[in-house]
Amino acid sequence: MKAVVKYALEDGSTEVRDVPIPKIGPTDVLVKVDSIGICGSDPHMHHNNVSYPVEVPLILGHEFSGIIDKVGEKVEKFSKGDRVTAETHAEYCGKCVMCRTNNYHLCQERKGYGFGVDGAYASYVKVPERILHRVPDNVSLEEASLTEPLCVAYNLVVNNMTVNPGDVVVVIGPGPIGILSCNMAAIAGASEIIMIGTNGDEKRLEKSKEYGATTTINSGKTEPLPIIKEKNEGYGADVVIDAAGPAVTLKLALEAVRPEGTVNKIAWGPKPINYSLDKIIEKAITLRGSFSHTWDVWEKSLKLLEKGQVDLSGLITHQLSIEEWERGFELVESKEGIKVVLKP
Ligand SMILES: [Zn+2]
Ligand SMILES: [Zn+2]
Repeated sequence: MKAVVKYALEDGSTEVRDVPIPKIGPTDVLVKVDSIGICGSDPHMHHNNVSYPVEVPLILGHEFSGIIDKVGEKVEKFSKGDRVTAETHAEYCGKCVMCRTNNYHLCQERKGYGFGVDGAYASYVKVPERILHRVPDNVSLEEASLTEPLCVAYNLVVNNMTVNPGDVVVVIGPGPIGILSCNMAAIAGASEIIMIGTNGDEKRLEKSKEYGATTTINSGKTEPLPIIKEKNEGYGADVVIDAAGPAVTLKLALEAVRPEGTVNKIAWGPKPINYSLDKIIEKAITLRGSFSHTWDVWEKSLKLLEKGQVDLSGLITHQLSIEEWERGFELVESKEGIKVVLKP
């Protein structure tokens, strides 16, 4: 089968290769991949510009959907022909304290698709039954391939911080995770959602209005802080989500949040920061992170898709064949595309 393989820890070392179809074990299924979402982290992997460990050679891709082609003899709840999507946790130990407390996404032995285990930029992918999820009949497989970023936003907004009805929420970074965080904040009852982007983000800022943003600011043209500081009697936002990542956006987040407010960092920023974090003390801020998601978050996110409370199809700007992966990466990097879906 054809697959997009990262073959060395060097910039640009990715190519389409012919590789064997994965062999499944007794508790696995073989999924015939229908759609793959390009994650913002995939081009970073291609350029070898990530702060987490990567094992090569490796098939990229962790956002996908497809149809079950084969089931292992011990698989109980799924059959050939089922429409499915899957969590990214291809492997975890299942025995440690994190695994036993429904925090298996934080297991030391966790290996993610397209990072530690062969991913889904391919015709077929092997998936253990324990991380499979059924796609509702009324949800397209293209849309279902983007369940993963929705789960990231769900886990961030619902489980790893509190958004109360009436809150002022600031989201920095109108990429897919930022836009879906707007959507989740709106569902959680936020009254004002301010999305901040920069030059080049114009299309994404517009899109975020369809996903719950009540105000958008291009920080390349307008200074965002005075606008945010008008909220809550001059104190600023109740919560700030940093979905951008660089040092400068965390700085803005710490300034924009009100005393006793929460800043949640969802975007990676591999470079060190060069400023004081004393604002955290001065304003008694809660600064926390959010990583990945778990089975329950997937089921709830798929329910949101089934009931039409979230429409992921609105984020899909391009559909390309898997051979055009590099063009897809360019569309994501140039911000011309929001979500690009590849078809094997
Ligand atoms: Zn991703
Ligand atoms: Zn574990």
